[in-house]
Amino acid sequence: MNRYAKDFPILDQNVNGHPLVYLDSAATSQKPFAVIDAVERYYKENNSNVHRGVHTLGSRATDQYEGAREKVRRFIGASSTKEIVYTRGTTTSLNLVASSYARSRLQAGDEIVISPSEHHSNLIPWQQAAKATGATLKYFELEPDGTLDLKKAEAVITDRTKLVAIAYVSNSLGTIFPVKELAAIVHRHGGVLVVDGAQAVPHFKVDVQDLDCDFLAFSGHKMMAPTGIGVLYGKESLLEQMEPMEFGGEMIDHVDLYESTWKELPWKFEGGTPIIAGAIGLGAAIDYLEQVGMDVVEAYDRDLTRYALERLSTLEGVEIYGPRENRVGSVLFNVDGVHPHDVATVLDAEGIAVRAGHHCCQPLMRWLEVSATARASFYLYNDEADVDRLVAGLQKTKEYFG
Ligand code: PLP
Repeated sequence: MNRYAKDFPILDQNVNGHPLVYLDSAATSQKPFAVIDAVERYYKENNSNVHRGVHTLGSRATDQYEGAREKVRRFIGASSTKEIVYTRGTTTSLNLVASSYARSRLQAGDEIVISPSEHHSNLIPWQQAAKATGATLKYFELEPDGTLDLKKAEAVITDRTKLVAIAYVSNSLGTIFPVKELAAIVHRHGGVLVVDGAQAVPHFKVDVQDLDCDFLAFSGHKMMAPTGIGVLYGKESLLEQMEPMEFGGEMIDHVDLYESTWKELPWKFEGGTPIIAGAIGLGAAIDYLEQVGMDVVEAYDRDLTRYALERLSTLEGVEIYGPRENRVGSVLFNVDGVHPHDVATVLDAEGIAVRAGHHCCQPLMRWLEVSATARASFYLYNDEADVDRLVAGLQKTKEYFG
């Protein structure tokens, strides 16, 4: 156990008779005491709805909820909290852009460009938006190692390209895509860049002003916060023009029998009682990550991913997918002749949690010409000993099925 692991109570247990090695953080991360305590304290001491009552609990809850929004703003370098919309997660954030931005702007002849490696949450909303508007959905071509050649990408983006959507870090290949360079290209053609930051924001400093992306979506639960809370960052000028996706309480300014008006940003997008405890938990997760330092988190996660690649490469009959360099967070692999579900089952018997399947990337699986893979993913609380356990577990898997 490394020094950070001690902050994560769930890791201190045996699974199937072995100390737990959790290598599934790309699916969801574990939560430190600091986050669990913040949520518990909110429910024990301050639980109340926000923005409504004048009573003390109501104002404490509102202060904490809005205070967390300010932490998010600072964490991703946005210029105003008006640009920070709380959502349920990356999926909801991307759907909000697809419905409220893309659907009302795109028409036949326009193009949306994405990558074949996208998570379904950054693929289907664009498929649907293209179908609804008559716009054309196009794909970047990936290099054999799962990276993007900017020259080739540039050739796909034209004046017809109204929107490009891409993950900053692929949840399968681990590839870090050149989103800053893409933003510049897309803007030259008058389009907008939507960044799926689900696997990036947890692992390194993402600064929206430096990237100059138009939208950034991410999920709290992948960065040590609770499930059910996520963020959509959008440039104020764009969010301002967008209609809400949900209508009802909390998001209104004035309601009449036949006409209503909306609150100002960001609240017009937050209809209904919001995810108060989740937002407070997200604020606590950001405090935790900032205390460690995002530069430390990044160096640590990159080193561990590199170590895992090195160690797994020594195993005969293990195929690893994705680039050898400039990647973070996860390693996608298959063991010759063994179905990834069997790999995951044998590892689980050893107390090692990895994911097996298509990782919400079915088109990518077809591109890799496999039906499924195993994936080990890492975070701050993992260490080299965890990778060594994985390697030993895979050796056992090979013996078992050999
Ligand atoms: N995009 C990427 C790259 C992801 O890894 C995930 C989750 O695995 C998502 C989108 C969807 O996130 P959520 O399920 O939290 O909405």
